[in-house]
Amino acid sequence: MEVSRQHIYSDAELDSHEGQVIAELKANSQCIIPDPDEWLDEELRRNVLLTTVDAFLNWARTSSMWPVISFPACCAFELISTAASRFDISRFGMEILRASPKQADLMITAGTLTWKMAPQIKRLYNQMAEPKWVIAMGACGISGGLFRGSYAVVPGYNHIIPVDVYVPGCPPRPEALLYGIQMLHKKIKKQSNFTGGER
Ligand code: SF4
Repeated sequence: MEVSRQHIYSDAELDSHEGQVIAELKANSQCIIPDPDEWLDEELRRNVLLTTVDAFLNWARTSSMWPVISFPACCAFELISTAASRFDISRFGMEILRASPKQADLMITAGTLTWKMAPQIKRLYNQMAEPKWVIAMGACGISGGLFRGSYAVVPGYNHIIPVDVYVPGCPPRPEALLYGIQMLHKKIKKQSNFTGGER
């Protein structure tokens, strides 16, 4: 069966219409369209910062220190108070006290340590992520404090783990602990991530 071809427009009309569209587009396209992101050239000049890898890594580390839970005695209440709303350590990016050492990079030794607890504290420290730091909080954390003479008490956490900052007091107030945290930040900012020493 023969199918007849029927069009609304003839081939000549279609060609003419196409020609008109092209001519119109050509007439309206004589100028280059301005780059909509030209302003970026100026903005980038004003907003790019140059720094060192050390400074950047150390800034990131000091802004996100996560303390592990290790509260063997009464200094713990000052640490808990430091974390609560009045003193608020979340200002330093460290609001959550981690329940697992594998999520933490800071140990704050809030309390007297007995030799019986010492292996657990050492294990917690060993399981923490690298790089990691320790703040010895309170007289007991620094030297055994009142209980230093006891056969059962460790005379300072620095006998079993390396301590970076000492915060004296019995107990130290939250302001003192916050000052110790800021001292630790200063120490970290001076560290070189390549040589391991001071940069
Ligand atoms: S330093 Fe004082 S407050 Fe802190 S754990 Fe020792 S006895 Fe308790």
